[in-house]
Amino acid sequence: MLNISDLTIFDIHKKFKSFEFTPTDLLNEIFLQIKKNEPVIKGYISIFEDKAYQEAKVIEEQFKGGAALHFLAGIPIAIKDNICVEGELTTCASRILYNFISPYNATAVKRLKEAGAIIIGKTNLDEFAMGSSSETSYFGAVKNPLNPDYVPGGSSGGSAAVVAYGGSIGALGSDTGGSIRQPASFCGVVGLKPTYGRVSRYGLVAFASSLDCIGPITRNVCDAALIFSVIAGYDPYDATTVNLPVDLLVPDKNKITEYTIGIPKEYIELESEIDNEVKKIFDETINELKKIVRSVKIISLPLFQYHLACYYLICTAEASSNLARYDGVRYGLREKCESLIEMYEKTRDIGFGREVKRRILLGTYALSKGYYEEYYGTAQKVRNLIKKDFAEAFKQCDIIITPTSPTLPFKLNERITNPLAMYRSDLFTTGVSLAGIPAISVPAPSTSNGFSVGIQIIGRPFCEKEILNCALAIEELRK
Ligand code: GLN
Repeated sequence: MLNISDLTIFDIHKKFKSFEFTPTDLLNEIFLQIKKNEPVIKGYISIFEDKAYQEAKVIEEQFKGGAALHFLAGIPIAIKDNICVEGELTTCASRILYNFISPYNATAVKRLKEAGAIIIGKTNLDEFAMGSSSETSYFGAVKNPLNPDYVPGGSSGGSAAVVAYGGSIGALGSDTGGSIRQPASFCGVVGLKPTYGRVSRYGLVAFASSLDCIGPITRNVCDAALIFSVIAGYDPYDATTVNLPVDLLVPDKNKITEYTIGIPKEYIELESEIDNEVKKIFDETINELKKIVRSVKIISLPLFQYHLACYYLICTAEASSNLARYDGVRYGLREKCESLIEMYEKTRDIGFGREVKRRILLGTYALSKGYYEEYYGTAQKVRNLIKKDFAEAFKQCDIIITPTSPTLPFKLNERITNPLAMYRSDLFTTGVSLAGIPAISVPAPSTSNGFSVGIQIIGRPFCEKEILNCALAIEELRK
C-alpha cells in the first residue's frame, strides 16, 4: 500500500522520475480505495479501469526512456459527469441522458490529456448540476466520506467525495453558484472556481451559461494551482474565454504579508444563519491570519441580501432555455408515442427529475411575456449592481474572506423536500458567481466533529494567483 495522502502532484512526479513508484503502482492504490469506498459513497457514475491501466503503462515506458514529461503525466483525474470525455457516457446524472455518449472531449479534458493525465472516471452530481447536496442524481445520492450519514455537498459532490477518500488525485467540477466550493468545503478538500471566461466551457453541458465555470477539486492548494494552469486559457471554441496568458502557477504563501483582507460586515451580521461551529472556526482562522497579513478590514457588500434571489432568477431562466434541447429528438432518452408533441411531453416528463422540472418551470415563468422585464430584467440590473459592490470593496482590500457555507454538512434527506432551505446553502457563494470573479474554498486549520469548515477566499477578476497564495497560507496553518 502506498502512502500518498500528504504528497502533492509535484512530489508524486518526482517519485515517478526517481522510480520510487510507478503510475501503475499509483493506480493500484487509487483503485483499492475506489473498491473499498464506492459501494457506500457512490462518487462515480462510470470508471475506466482498463483504459487507465493501459495509459499508465505507456507513461511508465516514457518515464523509463527518460522523456521529460509534464507534472500531470500519469496522474489520475476524475471528471464530473456533465463534462464531455470522448467515447464515454456523459449523463449529467439525469435519466434523459442515461445513454448519451460524448462525441468529443471538452477543452479542459483535452488539455489534461495532452499533459498526460489519466482520466479514470466520471463523477456523480446533482441532476444537471442543480443542487447543493448531490442527492438528486438519477444514479442515487452521493455520501460524504467523512461520515456517510451526511451529504457531500453539491452539485460536484462526486468529485469532492472521490478526491476526499483517495479515489482520485484530483477532479474537475463545475461551479454555477457554488458547486465546486461548497462540496469541497463539506468534504474537507480544496475547490477553485476560476474567473468566468478563464477556463473554456466547450464540452461542459450548459446549465446557466453566463455563470457556469469549470475548475479543479484537489487534496491541496498546489494541486489546484497546477490543474488550473493546465486547463485555463483562450479557446476559439468558447467566445467568452479571455486571451490572457496563464503561467504555471506555483503559489507563494509569503505574498500574504502584502495583502489587506476584507471581511464583509453583512456576513458577520448574519449570525443567526451561521452554525456556531462554523463561526467559531472562521473567527479562529481570521485571528491566525491577522498575525501574518498586512491588515484585516471590515468591508461592505450592501446588496448581499439580494445575492440568492438574483442568482436563482438568472440561473433558472437560463436553465429553462438551455434544457429545451432535451426533447427526445437529438439526445438520450426517447419515449415512443403516436404524435411528436406527445413524444416531447412524455420524454421530458419521464426524463427529468423534480428539481430540474422545478427550475424549468420557474425559469420559463420568469422569461414569459409580461414578466420578462419585471423578473429577468430586474435580476440582470441587480446583477450589475452586485458586480459594482465587489469592485468597490476591492478598492479597500485585496482579498475578501467568508465561510464557504453557513453550515456544516447536513444529514441525507434533511433538506431534499425543502428547496428554500437547500438554496440557502449557497448564501455565500452565489454573489461571487454573479460577479464572475474567482474564489477558492480551503479547509480551515481546525475541525469540528470530524468535519472541516471551508474558508472561501475571493479575489479580483483574473487574480487566481492571489487567492491561491492566500489559500496556501491557510493550508500551512494546519501544519
Ligand atoms: N447549488 C446551486 C444551485 O443549485 C449551485 C449549483 C452549481 O453551482 N452548479 O443552483
